[in-house]
Amino acid sequence: MTVSRGWCPTLSTPMSSGDGLLLRIRPALSRLDATVARRLAAAAARHGNGVIELTTRGNLQVRGFSDVSAAAFADEMEAAGLSWRRHAPMVSPLADGDPACAPETLGLAVAVEAALADDPALDGLAPKFAVLVDGDGQMPMASVAADIALRAAGQDWRIEAGGAATLCGADAASEMVRRLARAALALGIRPQGAPGCGEALFQAAGWPARAFEPMPAPPPVAVGRLPARAFGIGLPPGQLDAALLTRLAELAEGLGDGTLRLTPWRALLLAGLSDQAEPALRRALTGQLTDPDDPRLRVASCIGGPGCASGSVPAAADARLLAAVLPAMPPGGLALHVSGCAKGCAHPEPAAVTLVGRDGLYDLVEHGRAGDTPVRRGLMVEAAAALLQAAARPEARA
Ligand code: SF4
Repeated sequence: MTVSRGWCPTLSTPMSSGDGLLLRIRPALSRLDATVARRLAAAAARHGNGVIELTTRGNLQVRGFSDVSAAAFADEMEAAGLSWRRHAPMVSPLADGDPACAPETLGLAVAVEAALADDPALDGLAPKFAVLVDGDGQMPMASVAADIALRAAGQDWRIEAGGAATLCGADAASEMVRRLARAALALGIRPQGAPGCGEALFQAAGWPARAFEPMPAPPPVAVGRLPARAFGIGLPPGQLDAALLTRLAELAEGLGDGTLRLTPWRALLLAGLSDQAEPALRRALTGQLTDPDDPRLRVASCIGGPGCASGSVPAAADARLLAAVLPAMPPGGLALHVSGCAKGCAHPEPAAVTLVGRDGLYDLVEHGRAGDTPVRRGLMVEAAAALLQAAARPEARA
């Protein structure tokens, strides 16, 4: 089995990490059948260390494998029908249950994946190349960036790449995505990382488009009772274990439509629930994050050390401790980012407070990114907690 370092891992090409090999799974249509989810959970615990992560791309990562156990896990997942769907787009998680979501959303996602997968010229497309099909509706994905995004716009679809956009019909959209992906490959650019490239990209794809200024949009509330008979379970910092995934799969089978929906917002959703399901769900999920006002939702973190070899602090564990000292606040904003090192993988954007691991201690950045200049250096986690508590007092906020 090939081991890749420093780039996007897949099911067949694991990445070396601090706690062994890491594999990534991208299911079709951003959803997992509950039966498959149970098999995945059992195999992750049997072959790896049982840690399962939901990424900000809505992919699943499993950790703690050896060469031999990674191959065994990959074989079991292939047998369960779960593979790395390299060209599968992210898709609106409630597309089939939300009457306000564009009805062609799922069909379009299938067509886009097929159009990309069937074109041998796209074999060289980076595994990280991200395509999004956003049917809007009650859980819009306006906050989610992608290399190429298709967003429902009335009767049409708006296709965006590299800071340019144009409208097209659903019947032309998948071919347009394919041509744009080809153009990106030919020009050697990833549109998401090159916001000014859009007009040239569309021109190379043979389709005129106009530059636009993306409007920042907050992520939707994805925790607790949701529209379209759905319910969200928050997973900051994106981690769950095999036992929780098994329990959620059983709840999806017993109370929902038998699927788990993967989101890019650190939350898994159950869908197709009856009106009576919520009390039973809340009882079964006591202690889990199901309240949209829970301060744990305002904290982002990576795994840190020892899971990641670059982290000198246990960022995920410390984030859980620090979340306990944050005040309750309305849904929406991010209060704290705990990063294992200055790379800031979990949250590349600025946060109100960012704690950055360095030599086993934390540096503190205010209103900035993990790589920005800190205002305090060398803090133990207890000292960082004290600073957060002091900042949360009413007199400090007045
Ligand atoms: S921010 Fe640093 S420690 Fe955290 S996952 Fe990225 S490289 Fe690892």
